[in-house]
Amino acid sequence: MDEQQLLPKELREYYIKKTTWIVNIGLLASHVSLGVFFLIYSADIIFLYNCLSVLVYLFSFMLLKKWNYNNSKIYIVTIFVEMYLFTILAIVCLGWKFGFQNYFIAFTSSILFIDFYQNTKSDSKAKKIQFGLFNAFLYVFLYLETQLYSPVYRIDSDISTRILFVINSLASFGFLVMFLLIYYSAIYHMKSVLLQASEKDPLTGLFNRRTMLQILNQRLSGEQNENYAIAMFDVDFFKAVNDTYGHDVGDKVLKHLAKQFQTISKENNDFWISRWGGEEFLALYRYEGDSSSVIGLFEQIRKQIEENKLSYEDVEISITVTIGLTFVTEEKEIKEWIKSADSLLYIGKKSGRNRVVV
Ligand code: GH3
Ligand code: MG
Ligand code: MG
Repeated sequence: MDEQQLLPKELREYYIKKTTWIVNIGLLASHVSLGVFFLIYSADIIFLYNCLSVLVYLFSFMLLKKWNYNNSKIYIVTIFVEMYLFTILAIVCLGWKFGFQNYFIAFTSSILFIDFYQNTKSDSKAKKIQFGLFNAFLYVFLYLETQLYSPVYRIDSDISTRILFVINSLASFGFLVMFLLIYYSAIYHMKSVLLQASEKDPLTGLFNRRTMLQILNQRLSGEQNENYAIAMFDVDFFKAVNDTYGHDVGDKVLKHLAKQFQTISKENNDFWISRWGGEEFLALYRYEGDSSSVIGLFEQIRKQIEENKLSYEDVEISITVTIGLTFVTEEKEIKEWIKSADSLLYIGKKSGRNRVVV
């Protein structure tokens, strides 16, 4: 399964959009508050640059509103150029003690999004390393610069130093946490897609054979004092449905059946059902009381399927199933129980179909 399926295009765009809106608001707010300081301390160069930054972020809202691939590229490039120039300029103009350098650490977290933004399938490790090194280099380089040269503007007020340091720290941590959170939700989404794909059958959404075997193993192995029944369902004359209406309609029939099974398992916590193979479904049922109520239930399911015809174009397609139902009465290997349900199903097929055989 490739990344495209794990994180569909719309969702990837959603994450990019979400990131960019929040980033844009955050950056605008930071620049407005920083601008006040630059103005108070007559740090003209950085103040003028900061005015430009504010304009860039105001203008960016227009780009974000008319969101498309080109605009998103322009946006990303613009804000990266703006952010790096700003941080470098701020450090050169004001020095190290205000914490502007922390932005480089925050920027580094956007390493997580390089693949997203570039829309590449490849895991470009080299690019990430280069980007990390680039940030580290700037950080160290600017540190040395501030040690060798005095800042362009001197702000001696302790209170201003502290306030600026606090603003910069909050903004950089905000940036960092937000990036990590968004990345986390994307990963979380991918995880649930993967889990779903590994547990479920893609056509019907029912458990696949592998998951059903796990459930059977969990429920039936070892000593247990609960009552279980296993039922194998097989669609009657399914080949004829395919031959008459086509394979796609055959698939629709399987989905139609799966929907009914899903309703039953939703209403009944003790009913697990899987797509065992092509047009075969295997169910496990935990029951209380006597076996006749179980037979009653499966008889009811069989009847419901028979009555619930599938409307397709102008025709109503009748579907019936034959069910082999076996009761787990002693300790036996799981595959023995399945075999037993299968043999009962076979008897049902031989004796006329559309029935429950116990
Ligand atoms: P019987 O009543 O004896 O079960 O008859 P049948 O026609 O259902 O039995 P058979 O085993 O001969 O045919 C099963 C058919 O199911 C054959 C196969 O092409 C079809 N099939 C299996 N998987 C799928 C699927 O995913 N989609 C569709 N449309 N058909 C499938
Ligand atoms: Mg079959
Ligand atoms: Mg069949």
